[in-house]
Amino acid sequence: MVQPIACATRHTQVLVLGAGPAGASSAAFCAQAGLKTMLLEREKGPRFHVGESLMPDTYFTLKRLGVLEKLQTSLHTRKYSVQFVTETGKESQPFYFFENNPHECAQTWQVIRSEFDAMLVDNASFHGVEVYQGTHALDVITDPGNPGKVIGARVRQQGVGEFDIFADVVVDATGQSALIANKLNLRVSDPLLRNASIWTYYKGASREGGLDEGATLILAIQKKKGWFWYIPLANDIVSVGVVGPIDYLLKGRGGAEAIFNEELERCPGAKQRVEPGQRLGEFFTTKDFSYKSSQVAGDGWVLVGDAFGFLDPVYSSGVFLALKSGEMAADAIRSAFQANDFSGARLGAWGPLFLRGMDRMKRLVHAFYEGFNFGTFIRKHPDMKRHLIDLLIGDLFKDSVDAIILPLDAMREENRLMQAQEMEMEKTMASQAIAY
Ligand SMILES: Cc1cc2nc3c(=O)[nH]c(=O)nc-3n(C[C@H](O)[C@H](O)[C@H](O)COP(=O)(O)OP(=O)(O)OC[C@H]3O[C@@H](n4cnc5c(N)ncnc54)[C@H](O)[C@@H]3O)c2cc1C
Repeated sequence: MVQPIACATRHTQVLVLGAGPAGASSAAFCAQAGLKTMLLEREKGPRFHVGESLMPDTYFTLKRLGVLEKLQTSLHTRKYSVQFVTETGKESQPFYFFENNPHECAQTWQVIRSEFDAMLVDNASFHGVEVYQGTHALDVITDPGNPGKVIGARVRQQGVGEFDIFADVVVDATGQSALIANKLNLRVSDPLLRNASIWTYYKGASREGGLDEGATLILAIQKKKGWFWYIPLANDIVSVGVVGPIDYLLKGRGGAEAIFNEELERCPGAKQRVEPGQRLGEFFTTKDFSYKSSQVAGDGWVLVGDAFGFLDPVYSSGVFLALKSGEMAADAIRSAFQANDFSGARLGAWGPLFLRGMDRMKRLVHAFYEGFNFGTFIRKHPDMKRHLIDLLIGDLFKDSVDAIILPLDAMREENRLMQAQEMEMEKTMASQAIAY
């Protein structure tokens, strides 16, 4: 049942829209700081969500939220590494996160998102956040005298109707709906990452034993047209998805199931792993999910998680960045209340550091789609392995990882030249074939 928001409480200090990892974490931190905080979620009860693989550095935000023990005693699969598989099925050595830091933070989880997200919302409620599910934010309300300033939200509650809630600060955590970024035209797409994805779930598919049981696998498709993720979850279920350019994956082809199966044929490493399993339920499709907003905050508003931006699924950075931005934004909100200053400059003070970290990850994402080979890179630059692992665990917010930029960019350039030569050779061969 939806809990109605009483007329008397339709004003709050912090109003958070959307109760995914970004919204639930920012709300919990604001309430921990003693701020009256409301969290609105359009769905009722636990809801399905893609994005099951966590990055190790979620540890620190999860610890500060006070939910580590719950995860440690949960049935979620433990993840110690990530491993890459070539288009012919050849496996890289696993990148064990503990190689950099043999601390408990080097182990993370592959989570069932409905359960993980519900745990974060319960935790927000435990810290004093007023949580209202079945409550849809229809639009944000701007100040009539200053259209860039947000002062509240128009909401619709199931069984109650539409009404306004006013707040000193509105946090947009509506995920890819990106309420404020869309309204204020802040969304900028990444032309190099115009990808789509189709995914489903299998029960009883093959998985390794021991430490590698919960490894995320990233498996290349022949001719590097795209890649599969392979994420082992609890209850012997595996999440399996294919990602590739929108034009390649979706244009002029059949339905999701047919495309998925065709791509599986092009990825021997994924095919042989799912074969012993039984598919569970439907196929899901999404596209054009990579973008970022041109601002993290404005007067009276802050963007967190996917509502600010999302890079790409390849290194499982989404939930980490959602939690981290939720945490950093909440700290800025607390200092805004201390200074009684709700300007964009104050609320977005965390932005430059966050963007530097996100940018470091983006370089690695771009390199991946340009054909970057982890094994070759490490053989050439063994001293860079620790920086590569830093990026894979989410240790993005320190300048020392920038040591990787020059060798990484040099290898990206080599890849580009090699690809150009290959294309030239294919063209020559095709024209010779026509001449004969
Ligand atoms: C194909 C794919 C695979 C991915 N795989 C991974 C992965 O393995 N690991 C990883 O870390 N990340 C992954 N991600 C990214 C991850 O799913 C997101 O980055 C993460 O969920 C972002 O959290 P969030 O809280 O910002 O948004 P969300 O989790 O999307 O939460 C937003 C919430 O807001 C609610 N909402 C939306 N609009 C409104 C509204 N108007 N009013 C009220 N409520 C609203 C929604 O119902 C939802 O509950 C993947 C993404 C894609 C596209």
